Amino acid sequence: MFKPVNSRVHFPEIEQKILDLWRTERIFEKSIEIRGSSPKFILYEGPPTANGNPGIHHVLSRVYKDVIPRYKTMKGFCVPRKAGWDTHGLPVELEVEKMLGFSGKAQIEDYGVAKFNALCRESVFKYLKQWNALTERIGFWLDMDHPYVTLDNAYIESCWWAIKQLWDHGLIYRGYKVTPHCPRCGTSLSSHEVALGYQDDAVDPSVYIKFKIHNLPSNITEDMSAKFSLNKAVKDGKTYLVAWTTTPWTLPGNTSLALAADADYAVIEYNGEYLIFARALVESAGLGNSQILQSLKGNELEGSLYEPLFNPHAFNQERKRAKHGVQGQFEVQKPDNKLLYRVITADFVSMEEGTGIVHIAPAFGEVDFQAGLENNLDFVQPVDLAGKITGSYPFAGKFVKDADTGVLNDLDARGLLLKSSKITHTYPFCWRCDAPLLYYAKKTWYIRTSAKKEEMISGNSRINWYPEHIKEGRFGDWLKNNVDWAFSRERYWGTPLNIWACNKCNHYECLGSLTEIKTRKGLKGFSENMDLHRPYVDDVEYDCPKCDGRMTRQTEVIDCWFDSGSMPFAQWHYPFENVDKFKESFPADYISEAVDQTRGWFYSLHAISTLLFDQPCYKNVICLGHILDAQGEKMSKARGNVIDPGTVLDSSGADALRWYMFTASPPGNVRRLSVDMVVEVMRNFLMTLWNTYSFFVMYANIDNFVPGKKAVTPVSELDKWLISSLNQLIADVEDLLDNYDPTTAGRRIESFVNDLSNWYVRRSRRRFWKSQNDDDKISAYNTLYHTLVTLSKLLAPFTPFIAEEMYQNLVRSFDDTSPESVHLDNFPVAHKNLINKDIISDTELAMKICSMGRAARAKNAVKVRQPLPRVIVKARSSSEREALSKLSVQILDELNVKDIAFTEDELKEDKKLSVVAEGDYQVGVVTEITPELIAEGIAREIVRRLQTMRRSAGLEIADHILTYYEGNEQIDRVIQRFSDYIKQETLSKGIVKGIPDKGAYSEKFKISNLEVVLAIRKQGS
Ligand SMILES: [Zn+2]
Ligand SMILES: [Zn+2]
Repeated sequence: MFKPVNSRVHFPEIEQKILDLWRTERIFEKSIEIRGSSPKFILYEGPPTANGNPGIHHVLSRVYKDVIPRYKTMKGFCVPRKAGWDTHGLPVELEVEKMLGFSGKAQIEDYGVAKFNALCRESVFKYLKQWNALTERIGFWLDMDHPYVTLDNAYIESCWWAIKQLWDHGLIYRGYKVTPHCPRCGTSLSSHEVALGYQDDAVDPSVYIKFKIHNLPSNITEDMSAKFSLNKAVKDGKTYLVAWTTTPWTLPGNTSLALAADADYAVIEYNGEYLIFARALVESAGLGNSQILQSLKGNELEGSLYEPLFNPHAFNQERKRAKHGVQGQFEVQKPDNKLLYRVITADFVSMEEGTGIVHIAPAFGEVDFQAGLENNLDFVQPVDLAGKITGSYPFAGKFVKDADTGVLNDLDARGLLLKSSKITHTYPFCWRCDAPLLYYAKKTWYIRTSAKKEEMISGNSRINWYPEHIKEGRFGDWLKNNVDWAFSRERYWGTPLNIWACNKCNHYECLGSLTEIKTRKGLKGFSENMDLHRPYVDDVEYDCPKCDGRMTRQTEVIDCWFDSGSMPFAQWHYPFENVDKFKESFPADYISEAVDQTRGWFYSLHAISTLLFDQPCYKNVICLGHILDAQGEKMSKARGNVIDPGTVLDSSGADALRWYMFTASPPGNVRRLSVDMVVEVMRNFLMTLWNTYSFFVMYANIDNFVPGKKAVTPVSELDKWLISSLNQLIADVEDLLDNYDPTTAGRRIESFVNDLSNWYVRRSRRRFWKSQNDDDKISAYNTLYHTLVTLSKLLAPFTPFIAEEMYQNLVRSFDDTSPESVHLDNFPVAHKNLINKDIISDTELAMKICSMGRAARAKNAVKVRQPLPRVIVKARSSSEREALSKLSVQILDELNVKDIAFTEDELKEDKKLSVVAEGDYQVGVVTEITPELIAEGIAREIVRRLQTMRRSAGLEIADHILTYYEGNEQIDRVIQRFSDYIKQETLSKGIVKGIPDKGAYSEKFKISNLEVVLAIRKQGS
């Protein structure tokens, strides 16, 4: 006997039992142990940070990380899966800052770095329990007991080794460069972090500023006969170059204006003054119809001198210039009250927007900085690292974006603001704290990734991306536009940068291991087993090998993306330990994360691996789209539309949620998700499967079916079809999973389960129901049993719980020599010789004809139980007609018609014929009903009522009954005529006229307008 299966099932409850089974029997551990000597399949776990509750998007990536390894295990691979935790970086510091109510670095310094970092260390495991619980609950098999943790000394030492390798190969440098800087976090961001934070609805000022020309270059020739003289206009102090900007706060840093050398510039008169614009852009400035007084080329104006908007010396601001020949060093210039700035020409000046005159502030923006170096321009930095205006400007002390108004008011008061409005455009913000980023010139440590750009691109060509377009698209583009990795952070909680510098000479050293540190001369501040984090590591110093100075550590920490990107080797403390473990797990066969990681983890893994090992470190990637709410809105705490995974898991269960994640949309697409959508999946798919399974178990128990007891050769077309379909399904699913496509594989299984339930089981009901245990019945049992067992194995990677539940009952309860879990079994193998393509396509056609036939019946509102005389089918060919004749028994039964006929002519709808057409096919149902058919219809209605009454009366499926009835003459005739049929269908031993007073369950009905009273009583056999 199988364990009885309740059709009213609560999946979460079953899943808890399965979790207990896996835990107590160590099934996950065994799934690796039994494959100990098999080839390995390697998953790299992209480490999450456990300083927040895991969300629904984590479930998405975690189930995709699970499905492939489970499949590979069943295919015979050994799949070790090491968990990992990302524990460093700005996100962690921000959480702690928030908790302490801090708004900047000064407060951290006051509070003490040691205390601050201790809190960071604590916070990264704050939600560890929740993470472990969710991971287990959703059935993501991962070795959570031996995770790699990026804050461990061993992990840090491996990162140090990697940095030292890069250092030795000249791939690390310090540049005085413009970096995207977050003023709130007080640190640079790497370009892949910047890419995470663009907002395309940023509102900024759009302003036209006037720069007063002091004198023109002497080479400007003038047409003496013209009325207008530019030289005179300049001398009169009425001539201005007009520049456009969206960042007024950068104007105090302006030290030059750039024009396009070959472009035409026009002088126009406006309100009694003379303004200079690019000729092509005069109109777009919208100053009305202005007459062009004179035209000049950009290079004619080059060398013009203009008055600074803000002379830095008047506002306590330093003015510097690059020291000739020394990269990254600047010299302070003497105060100059009559300071003038020079007009330059440059090829980056756009004629698409603005005025064709670009305001240059070398302290802000890469282009400006480079222009400054090339033209030996002044460098004025009126903004500090917190994004506040320094000096004694009227708007000093304000945050840059808040200073915009002050700057404009000041210029307006001096008549230098021509026009001011607002613009909505794309601007980068800090991906973590949402502060607007500043492009800020400062010193930063870089990894010269651009030196290995070609290698990264060719390595990428060997990676299989799913979806495929990521390879040349999002990821490929990112690699093509590679810029060096700004990887130092002026922060506290991170892997400390392992570079030491002499306090006297210009000597730098990178130390790549603890042993290297230990062997330095004059070492101080180091002890065995010390915490390698700040502030302790800051005290490690030693003698400069070049002079009598001391070597102290550069205070920066490194980008936490470098940590996670180092996991292929750092998780093993390579190369200090586990050299063989690293080698056998490198590269990974498979990784999966969300699409934003093309600029995050996917990139840092690829970059580091290429730099260190000259090859990619992963072969296959499933790149996941984002999750939106049911309305297609981004989920956010602010919107209040975040779905808690727990809610879904408690109501529908992990299998339903997993199935939804796999099949609702392809992995790369964005997907909508709501509690209801998962409930629907549970009803549509899991319940269909469950009902089929429970149907089988119920009948099998009644008939004492024992799996494998008697083999019969299937003769039924239905059985042949199911076996064919099943083997085709196995072949398809295997092929799809081998190609990392769980979505199509899942959908194939789903449509198979539908056909199994709605065609095979429905068409076979009578075979299970009939009383004689003939070969046909045994064949039906064998076929359905084999199919359900195979399904449990096919589904094991997708819905591991229901698969296990079915397997335990169907297989383990009869055969304790079978593997103790479905997940320890092998994946089914398709027997190609059992696939009969004809029978599959023929049955598909029959199902299509039936579905059209049902539609034709429905069109005329004929009840399903009313038998009709005939269905007429117009198929495409004689071979199709042949196929349908072969399956006619099933079609007749399914459509409840007496006869099938074929035609090659068009069917015409009329009173007696209801027609449905689809493509080349037509199906007509003859709706003319004879008294004989009416009687049969009534008999069928009576059967249905009796069957419902059996359930209402609480009878077992195999209980026999006595049936009683009361009705008019017509009912009498129906019951006499169809008594055998009614008895057989309802397990009635007899049908008696007259309702007994008591001891029977009775109900009253109206069937075809006839009053009927029915009663049933259980009959002892
Ligand atoms: Zn920030
Ligand atoms: Zn030195």
